Amino acid sequence: MHEVSLIAGLLEMVAVSAKEQGIARVTKVHLVVGAGHGALPEALSLAFAALSQGTECAGAELTVEKLPIFLRCCACHHEYSPPGWPYVSCPRCGSLTVQLLQGDELYVEYYEGE
Ligand SMILES: [Zn+2]
Repeated sequence: MHEVSLIAGLLEMVAVSAKEQGIARVTKVHLVVGAGHGALPEALSLAFAALSQGTECAGAELTVEKLPIFLRCCACHHEYSPPGWPYVSCPRCGSLTVQLLQGDELYVEYYEGE
């Protein structure tokens, strides 16, 4: 499953960072996921709960913040948030040539621990 490898990588990153900061137990991890990324928040939560066992993140709360998609039309430079994904054509001129400005992110914005 896609989400499992993503969470495994994020947990590893948090573990390294927590060690550097002298944090023995992580209590909360805040994740930012772009709406166009394709990772499902429920699957991320499940993967987090399963993979964090026995690590600094065991029992930590995972919060997932969804970022909306923003696109820029390459023809008329209109910037907009499409009503759904993968609906992408420009509402102003109908062009299908668009650039993704935001929406495919997936990263840990912050974590808390003690
Ligand atoms: Zn346009």
